[in-house]
Amino acid sequence: MSKLLIVGTVAFDAIETPFGKTDKILGGAGTYIGLSASQFNVDSAVVSVVGDDFPQEYLDLLTKNNINIEGIEVVPGGKTFFWSGRYHNDLNSRDTLDTQLNVLADFKPVVPNEYKDAEIVMLGNLHPLVQLSVLEQLESPKLAILDTMNFWMDNALEDLMKVINKVDVITINDEEARQLSGEYSLAKAAKKIATMGPKYVVIKKGEHGALLFHEEQVFFAPALPLEEVFDPTGAGDTFAGGFAGYIAKTGDISFENMKNAIIYGSNLASFCVEKFGTERMVELSGEEIDSRLEEFKKLTQFEIALT
Ligand code: AMP
Repeated sequence: MSKLLIVGTVAFDAIETPFGKTDKILGGAGTYIGLSASQFNVDSAVVSVVGDDFPQEYLDLLTKNNINIEGIEVVPGGKTFFWSGRYHNDLNSRDTLDTQLNVLADFKPVVPNEYKDAEIVMLGNLHPLVQLSVLEQLESPKLAILDTMNFWMDNALEDLMKVINKVDVITINDEEARQLSGEYSLAKAAKKIATMGPKYVVIKKGEHGALLFHEEQVFFAPALPLEEVFDPTGAGDTFAGGFAGYIAKTGDISFENMKNAIIYGSNLASFCVEKFGTERMVELSGEEIDSRLEEFKKLTQFEIALT
């Protein structure tokens, strides 16, 4: 088993979906990644920042899920990062209504000494310079995975390109892959993104699954067709957390093993969307995960005789 270091926002989210509305609930990329990766019982730590308006019970929830929070700085008098979004009726697209960086604006991350030798690092969504600083504090990670979003492409592209250049894997959604590469075809977009640095490009397509590109190889994982999708917030991060958690658990960074990691990521993301915020992830059992993996298998397995 490898140590997993995670960086990403730990946040307040306000979400509107066709099914309802929430006021300031627990969210953030680091939170979702951590909760998802914790399903693999790996030794993980989150590096992030919050204000002193952040409830202790949220921090306790991370600790309870075996996530080390020594690297989460609490800024006295500071306000926690806040994001608000509204989903369209199809639940596949959303508008960001508000992003308040607050304490994230001046954040200087410090990786706890115990995690400087982490083999796997998951650079979740936040300022690319924070991601870069975390990467530089690590001794010699075996695999660096990066997730980002259009907000940073719009606001810090130059810094983002620096960190993209230094990672092995990038996970990004289809719209963002098109924005980053200027290519409409996802196959062409992946090729172009690979020239920016990452040897592996994962493109997330929401309810349409995910693609993994590496050199001339492509792998596709579907998303499970769900009857009820309640709130897609955090699905991308949960996917990334599942991917990174599985790689950390197995310690195997081959393309073949990444295929399984993508399936695990998709599987965990399929739970995340069933309830508001982190609600579903914190009540999830190992049996539920295994039984849904069986469904994934059935969904894609077929016998065909080639003549
Ligand atoms: P996802 O639905 O997986 O794309 O991620 C949603 C989470 O990302 C929410 O919980 C937000 O708090 C967080 N988030 C939204 N915008 C940003 C941003 N610009 N940087 C970092 N995290 C963000």
